[in-house]
Amino acid sequence: MRRLLIAGNWKMHKTVQEAVELVRELKNLVSDVNDRDILVCPPFTALYAVKKELEGSNIALGAQNMFYEEKGAFTGEISPLMIKDVGCSYVILGHSERRHIFGETDELINKKVLSAARHGLIPILCVGETLQEREEGKTKDVVERQVREGLKGLNETSEFVIAYEPVWAIGTGKTATPELAEEVHSFIREVLSEMFGAEKADSVRILYGGSVKPENAAGLLRQPNIDGSLVGGASLKAESFAKIIKFDV
Ligand code: 13P
Repeated sequence: MRRLLIAGNWKMHKTVQEAVELVRELKNLVSDVNDRDILVCPPFTALYAVKKELEGSNIALGAQNMFYEEKGAFTGEISPLMIKDVGCSYVILGHSERRHIFGETDELINKKVLSAARHGLIPILCVGETLQEREEGKTKDVVERQVREGLKGLNETSEFVIAYEPVWAIGTGKTATPELAEEVHSFIREVLSEMFGAEKADSVRILYGGSVKPENAAGLLRQPNIDGSLVGGASLKAESFAKIIKFDV
Protein backbone atom coordinates (compact mmCIF):
# COMPACT_ATOMS: atom_id res chain seq x y z
CA MET A 1 0.00 0.00 0.00
CA ARG A 2 1.36 3.40 -0.95
CA ARG A 3 1.41 6.00 1.80
CA LEU A 4 -0.23 9.29 0.83
CA LEU A 5 2.01 12.33 0.48
CA ILE A 6 0.44 15.76 0.71
CA ALA A 7 2.95 18.43 -0.27
CA GLY A 8 2.75 22.22 -0.28
CA ASN A 9 4.72 24.13 -2.89
CA TRP A 10 4.82 27.69 -1.63
CA LYS A 11 6.52 28.99 -4.80
CA MET A 12 7.84 32.56 -4.39
CA HIS A 13 5.74 33.43 -1.34
CA LYS A 14 6.36 34.24 2.34
CA THR A 15 9.00 36.14 4.25
CA VAL A 16 10.87 34.26 6.97
CA GLN A 17 8.47 35.49 9.62
CA GLU A 18 5.38 34.66 7.57
CA ALA A 19 6.77 31.22 6.82
CA VAL A 20 7.41 30.44 10.48
CA GLU A 21 3.92 31.64 11.42
CA LEU A 22 2.36 29.46 8.74
CA VAL A 23 4.10 26.25 9.83
CA ARG A 24 3.48 27.01 13.50
CA GLU A 25 -0.24 27.11 12.79
CA LEU A 26 -0.10 24.14 10.45
CA LYS A 27 1.76 21.83 12.80
CA ASN A 28 -0.89 22.38 15.47
CA LEU A 29 -3.71 21.67 13.02
CA VAL A 30 -2.20 18.40 11.77
CA SER A 31 -0.39 17.11 14.87
CA ASP A 32 -2.80 14.15 15.09
CA VAL A 33 -2.13 12.95 11.51
CA ASN A 34 0.08 9.88 11.39
CA ASP A 35 -1.14 7.76 8.48
CA ARG A 36 0.21 9.95 5.67
CA ASP A 37 3.27 12.06 4.91
CA ILE A 38 3.10 15.84 5.01
CA LEU A 39 5.64 18.06 3.29
CA VAL A 40 6.17 21.80 2.96
CA CYS A 41 8.46 23.38 0.37
CA PRO A 42 9.11 27.02 1.33
CA PRO A 43 11.41 29.35 -0.62
CA PHE A 44 15.14 28.86 0.05
CA THR A 45 15.37 31.91 2.30
CA ALA A 46 12.91 30.44 4.81
CA LEU A 47 14.15 26.82 4.87
CA TYR A 48 16.40 27.14 7.92
CA ALA A 49 13.87 28.93 10.08
CA VAL A 50 11.04 26.62 9.03
CA LYS A 51 13.15 23.54 9.80
CA LYS A 52 13.73 24.83 13.33
CA GLU A 53 10.02 25.42 13.80
CA LEU A 54 9.21 21.92 12.50
CA GLU A 55 11.58 20.05 14.80
CA GLY A 56 9.76 17.16 16.46
CA SER A 57 6.70 17.57 14.21
CA ASN A 58 5.24 15.21 11.60
CA ILE A 59 5.96 17.63 8.73
CA ALA A 60 8.92 17.13 6.41
CA LEU A 61 10.84 19.83 4.57
CA GLY A 62 11.61 20.12 0.87
CA ALA A 63 13.18 22.60 -1.53
CA GLN A 64 11.57 23.83 -4.75
CA ASN A 65 14.64 23.45 -6.96
CA MET A 66 18.40 22.92 -6.83
CA PHE A 67 21.44 22.82 -9.10
CA TYR A 68 23.13 19.48 -9.74
CA GLU A 69 26.70 20.39 -8.77
CA GLU A 70 27.86 20.17 -5.15
CA LYS A 71 29.76 23.47 -5.11
CA GLY A 72 31.70 25.86 -7.28
CA ALA A 73 31.41 28.99 -9.36
CA PHE A 74 27.67 28.86 -10.06
CA THR A 75 26.46 32.28 -9.00
CA GLY A 76 22.92 32.28 -7.71
CA GLU A 77 22.55 28.51 -7.50
CA ILE A 78 21.89 26.23 -4.52
CA SER A 79 23.47 22.80 -4.22
CA PRO A 80 22.09 19.47 -3.00
CA LEU A 81 24.55 19.58 -0.09
CA MET A 82 23.16 22.94 0.97
CA ILE A 83 19.53 21.90 0.97
CA LYS A 84 20.41 18.68 2.81
CA ASP A 85 22.41 20.67 5.32
CA VAL A 86 19.41 22.86 6.05
CA GLY A 87 17.19 19.83 6.70
CA CYS A 88 15.44 19.03 3.43
CA SER A 89 14.58 15.45 2.61
CA TYR A 90 12.73 16.16 -0.65
CA VAL A 91 13.31 18.44 -3.64
CA ILE A 92 10.80 19.45 -6.32
CA LEU A 93 12.42 19.23 -9.77
CA GLY A 94 11.19 20.09 -13.24
CA HIS A 95 8.20 22.10 -12.11
CA SER A 96 6.38 23.53 -15.13
CA GLU A 97 7.31 27.05 -14.03
CA ARG A 98 10.99 26.01 -14.15
CA ARG A 99 10.44 24.44 -17.55
CA HIS A 100 8.47 27.29 -19.10
CA ILE A 101 9.71 30.47 -17.42
CA PHE A 102 13.34 29.44 -16.87
CA GLY A 103 13.80 27.18 -19.88
CA GLU A 104 14.72 23.98 -18.04
CA THR A 105 15.05 21.04 -20.39
CA ASP A 106 14.48 17.34 -19.77
CA GLU A 107 18.25 16.92 -19.94
CA LEU A 108 18.97 19.49 -17.24
CA ILE A 109 16.15 18.17 -15.07
CA ASN A 110 17.53 14.64 -15.41
CA LYS A 111 20.96 15.82 -14.17
CA LYS A 112 19.25 17.36 -11.15
CA VAL A 113 17.19 14.22 -10.49
CA LEU A 114 20.30 12.02 -10.57
CA SER A 115 22.20 14.42 -8.34
CA ALA A 116 19.34 14.56 -5.82
CA ALA A 117 19.16 10.76 -5.68
CA ARG A 118 22.94 10.51 -5.32
CA HIS A 119 22.78 12.84 -2.33
CA GLY A 120 19.99 11.00 -0.57
CA LEU A 121 17.30 13.55 -1.38
CA ILE A 122 13.95 12.32 -2.71
CA PRO A 123 13.27 14.05 -6.04
CA ILE A 124 9.68 14.97 -6.86
CA LEU A 125 9.74 15.03 -10.66
CA CYS A 126 6.96 17.22 -12.08
CA VAL A 127 5.46 16.40 -15.45
CA GLY A 128 2.45 17.67 -17.36
CA GLU A 129 1.14 18.87 -20.68
CA THR A 130 0.16 22.39 -21.75
CA LEU A 131 -3.35 23.21 -22.92
CA GLN A 132 -2.20 23.23 -26.52
CA GLU A 133 -0.56 19.84 -26.16
CA ARG A 134 -3.74 18.42 -24.62
CA GLU A 135 -5.90 19.86 -27.39
CA GLU A 136 -3.58 18.38 -29.98
CA GLY A 137 -3.94 14.95 -28.35
CA LYS A 138 -0.31 14.86 -27.23
CA THR A 139 -0.81 14.49 -23.46
CA LYS A 140 0.51 10.93 -23.20
CA ASP A 141 3.46 11.57 -25.54
CA VAL A 142 4.55 14.61 -23.55
CA VAL A 143 4.13 12.99 -20.16
CA GLU A 144 5.87 9.80 -21.26
CA ARG A 145 8.83 11.75 -22.63
CA GLN A 146 9.15 13.83 -19.44
CA VAL A 147 8.99 10.71 -17.25
CA ARG A 148 11.47 8.68 -19.33
CA GLU A 149 13.94 11.53 -19.85
CA GLY A 150 13.63 12.84 -16.31
CA LEU A 151 14.27 9.48 -14.65
CA LYS A 152 16.90 8.18 -17.05
CA GLY A 153 19.75 6.54 -15.13
CA LEU A 154 17.76 5.78 -11.96
CA ASN A 155 17.03 2.18 -11.10
CA GLU A 156 14.44 0.25 -9.12
CA THR A 157 16.27 0.89 -5.86
CA SER A 158 16.06 4.68 -6.24
CA GLU A 159 13.41 6.51 -4.27
CA PHE A 160 11.50 9.16 -6.18
CA VAL A 161 8.04 10.72 -6.47
CA ILE A 162 6.24 11.89 -9.60
CA ALA A 163 3.86 14.85 -9.63
CA TYR A 164 1.45 15.07 -12.54
CA GLU A 165 0.56 18.72 -12.96
CA PRO A 166 -1.31 19.59 -16.14
CA VAL A 167 -0.01 23.08 -16.94
CA TRP A 168 -3.51 24.33 -17.81
CA ALA A 169 -4.67 23.47 -14.27
CA ILE A 170 -1.90 25.29 -12.39
CA GLY A 171 -3.07 28.46 -10.69
CA THR A 172 -6.05 28.70 -13.02
CA GLY A 173 -8.79 27.29 -10.83
CA LYS A 174 -9.37 24.64 -13.51
CA THR A 175 -8.75 21.24 -11.98
CA ALA A 176 -8.53 18.05 -13.96
CA THR A 177 -11.53 15.88 -13.14
CA PRO A 178 -10.64 12.91 -10.94
CA GLU A 179 -11.28 10.57 -13.91
CA LEU A 180 -9.07 12.53 -16.26
CA ALA A 181 -6.25 12.72 -13.71
CA GLU A 182 -6.60 9.03 -12.89
CA GLU A 183 -6.23 8.13 -16.56
CA VAL A 184 -2.90 9.94 -16.81
CA HIS A 185 -1.70 8.62 -13.45
CA SER A 186 -2.38 5.04 -14.43
CA PHE A 187 -0.62 5.67 -17.75
CA ILE A 188 2.42 7.03 -15.86
CA ARG A 189 2.44 3.88 -13.75
CA GLU A 190 2.51 1.77 -16.94
CA VAL A 191 5.51 3.74 -18.17
CA LEU A 192 7.23 3.23 -14.79
CA SER A 193 6.49 -0.46 -15.02
CA GLU A 194 8.20 -0.66 -18.40
CA MET A 195 11.18 1.26 -17.03
CA PHE A 196 11.62 -0.29 -13.59
CA GLY A 197 9.39 -3.36 -13.38
CA ALA A 198 5.89 -3.81 -11.99
CA GLU A 199 6.89 -4.08 -8.35
CA LYS A 200 8.76 -0.78 -8.33
CA ALA A 201 6.03 0.94 -10.38
CA ASP A 202 3.48 -0.20 -7.84
CA SER A 203 5.42 1.42 -4.99
CA VAL A 204 6.03 4.85 -6.56
CA ARG A 205 3.84 7.69 -5.35
CA ILE A 206 2.26 9.75 -8.11
CA LEU A 207 0.89 13.07 -6.85
CA TYR A 208 -1.65 15.25 -8.61
CA GLY A 209 -1.15 19.02 -8.74
CA GLY A 210 -3.14 21.90 -10.25
CA SER A 211 -5.75 23.94 -8.39
CA VAL A 212 -6.17 21.39 -5.60
CA LYS A 213 -8.42 22.85 -2.90
CA PRO A 214 -10.28 21.54 0.14
CA GLU A 215 -13.42 21.22 -2.03
CA ASN A 216 -11.91 18.99 -4.71
CA ALA A 217 -9.16 17.13 -2.80
CA ALA A 218 -11.22 14.12 -1.73
CA GLY A 219 -12.47 13.30 -5.23
CA LEU A 220 -8.92 13.33 -6.57
CA LEU A 221 -7.22 11.61 -3.66
CA ARG A 222 -9.66 8.71 -3.64
CA GLN A 223 -8.61 7.63 -7.12
CA PRO A 224 -6.61 4.40 -7.03
CA ASN A 225 -3.51 5.82 -8.76
CA ILE A 226 -3.48 9.24 -7.11
CA ASP A 227 -1.21 8.94 -4.08
CA GLY A 228 -1.20 12.49 -2.85
CA SER A 229 -1.16 16.05 -4.06
CA LEU A 230 1.23 18.88 -4.74
CA VAL A 231 -0.63 21.98 -3.64
CA GLY A 232 0.28 25.53 -4.62
CA GLY A 233 -2.07 28.37 -3.67
CA ALA A 234 -4.11 26.44 -1.12
CA SER A 235 -0.96 25.50 0.83
CA LEU A 236 -0.31 29.15 1.68
CA LYS A 237 -3.01 29.17 4.37
CA ALA A 238 -2.67 26.69 7.23
CA GLU A 239 -6.38 26.07 7.48
CA SER A 240 -6.96 25.19 3.82
CA PHE A 241 -3.80 23.08 3.59
CA ALA A 242 -4.80 21.21 6.76
CA LYS A 243 -8.23 20.52 5.25
CA ILE A 244 -6.61 19.01 2.17
CA ILE A 245 -4.27 16.92 4.33
CA LYS A 246 -7.27 15.66 6.32
CA PHE A 247 -9.60 15.26 3.35
CA ASP A 248 -11.08 12.02 4.63
CA VAL A 249 -11.00 12.44 8.40
P1 13P B 1 -1.90 25.67 -7.67
O1 13P B 1 -2.36 24.68 -6.60
O2 13P B 1 -1.78 27.06 -7.16
O3 13P B 1 -2.69 25.52 -8.92
O4 13P B 1 -0.39 25.23 -8.03
C1 13P B 1 -0.11 23.92 -8.34
C2 13P B 1 1.35 23.73 -8.42
O5 13P B 1 1.99 24.20 -9.36
C3 13P B 1 2.02 23.00 -7.34
O6 13P B 1 3.34 22.71 -7.66
